[in-house]
Amino acid sequence: MDYDDMLDRGLEETPDIEGSSERFSVPEPDVRQEGHATVFENFQQVCRDLGRDEDHLLKFLQDELGTSAHIDESGRGRFTGEFSERRIQNALEAYSERFVLCSECGLPDTDIVNEQGAELLQCAACGARSSTSG
Ligand SMILES: [Zn+2]
Repeated sequence: MDYDDMLDRGLEETPDIEGSSERFSVPEPDVRQEGHATVFENFQQVCRDLGRDEDHLLKFLQDELGTSAHIDESGRGRFTGEFSERRIQNALEAYSERFVLCSECGLPDTDIVNEQGAELLQCAACGARSSTSG
């Protein structure tokens, strides 16, 4: 388990982190419309809060919203089409339930591991492994 890595990351980015047992809350997206596109301003921060790869979250959001997206030069997510902040928030909650929160103990102390082509959620808190595909 790489709890130390997690602590290191935490210290770099959120000096006032209180520990991983703190109740998890889904980060709030900062979203605005730009023409016929939706800009997810704090996309990178949300990825850091969730501890997940930008590409991984972006791909999920594309599937969830049924649109195309990319990360622009400022690190913001840009989605084709107009999506409300609430819609994005709902998608983030779905993502967190599936890819961040342990299905056994409910803590977010998890990592995604790939094993024989299957994506699994490995929990550092209770040791549970569960498939992310269901
Ligand atoms: Zn667990």
